[in-house]
Amino acid sequence: MLGSTGSIGVSTLDVVARHPDLYRVVALTAHRDVDGLFEQCVKFKPRLAVMAHEEAAAELSRRLWGQGGQTEVLSGMAGLEQAASIPEAGYVMAAIVGAAGLLPALAAVRAGKRVLLANKEALVVAGGLFMDEADTHGAEILPIDSEHNAVFQCMPANFSQGLRQTGVKRILLTASGGPFRSTPLHELEAVTPAQACAHPNWQMGRKISVDSATMMNKGLEVIEAHWLFRARPEQIQVVLHPQSVIHSMVEYADGSVLAQLGNPDMRTPIAHALAWPNRIESGVDSLDLFQVAHLDFEAPDLRRFPCLQLAFDAVKAGGTAPAILNAANEVAVAAFLEGRLGFLDISRLVEMTLQMLEVKPAESLEQLLEVDLSAREVAEQVLLNRV
Ligand code: NAD
Ligand code: MG
Repeated sequence: MLGSTGSIGVSTLDVVARHPDLYRVVALTAHRDVDGLFEQCVKFKPRLAVMAHEEAAAELSRRLWGQGGQTEVLSGMAGLEQAASIPEAGYVMAAIVGAAGLLPALAAVRAGKRVLLANKEALVVAGGLFMDEADTHGAEILPIDSEHNAVFQCMPANFSQGLRQTGVKRILLTASGGPFRSTPLHELEAVTPAQACAHPNWQMGRKISVDSATMMNKGLEVIEAHWLFRARPEQIQVVLHPQSVIHSMVEYADGSVLAQLGNPDMRTPIAHALAWPNRIESGVDSLDLFQVAHLDFEAPDLRRFPCLQLAFDAVKAGGTAPAILNAANEVAVAAFLEGRLGFLDISRLVEMTLQMLEVKPAESLEQLLEVDLSAREVAEQVLLNRV
């Protein structure tokens, strides 16, 4: 489990703990949350625990030693990659947030694992390469992102032969619109991190919560769907659906539209991907349609959500554009959360960074990692010179 102390990580351990007969945890990883990982190690007794942060790893090691545990502790990227490719594991949950999760997720792919992919940024930065490596190494990629998991459930079994060939016309990606779907535009300038992180339907980590408020999250998901399902951008429509009960839909050539519904709780897609093609209990309550009562739909307002437009432009431009978009967005969101950038400046910073860097065809992992780094530097520079 990569990113076991985060929102997806904790939900995954909740599902796993319900099925001790089916699943055993062999490796847990986190960034620097020693308390969180220590507690999980005591409970799940993994063979390996990894902290990306060196000193945090030393601290975890000391504390586990005191407990007399059997868990080996490693640190850094090498440790994360080792956890991702650990021979005892058949499945890897990739739930690190941001481009930081790319290399560990790729290590799992190269080890031919079933990869439960929550870390959408890995596909945004290097989707073509990631999917090719999965083909080469026989790795199964199962989407955890609720929309993509819903699409996967509604797709024909042979969709990888091509959407048109298998009768699929469009993917309808639903979006809640986040906390500011109907906030007056002039009030958005002064929005605080706490307001942006208060999502109406989902409990999530802070980065994805801000992405949901700007709708960059849906933009990243368009790019994610493009790679997972080999869909052209024109085959993906974003539909605002404030209740977050329909998690996404697939439209077929004959006019049929299949939808996957459920309570907004990530344990459903996690349990689906863990057990696929079987089904297991996830701990999620039954959907009460009488309580839901209404399902509403509207078109997204691209003036209100310029990040969504920027992401569509980036996937159409192709090559290194999505990697630049993602890196600039990570810098902008971190700056917003630290109080160094206004909410509306997030999209401005991403747009300016995209304008300042030349888009090139994607060629190699090394090149994409370099682009990621230089886009971060440019974004930081723009930030320092004030947007
Ligand atoms: P989170 O911030 O709650 O957790 C992130 C996890 O990654 C933590 O365990 C953290 O320790 C680890 N981590 C962070 N930076 C790291 C680094 N540099 N190196 C190693 N580990 C690092 O995030 P989350 O909400 O659980 O989201 C995780 C991923 O899943 C994101 O890509 C997000 O877009 C995606 N996702 C989340 C949800 C959700 O409901 N939370 C839904 C769909 C998709
Ligand atoms: Mg999602």
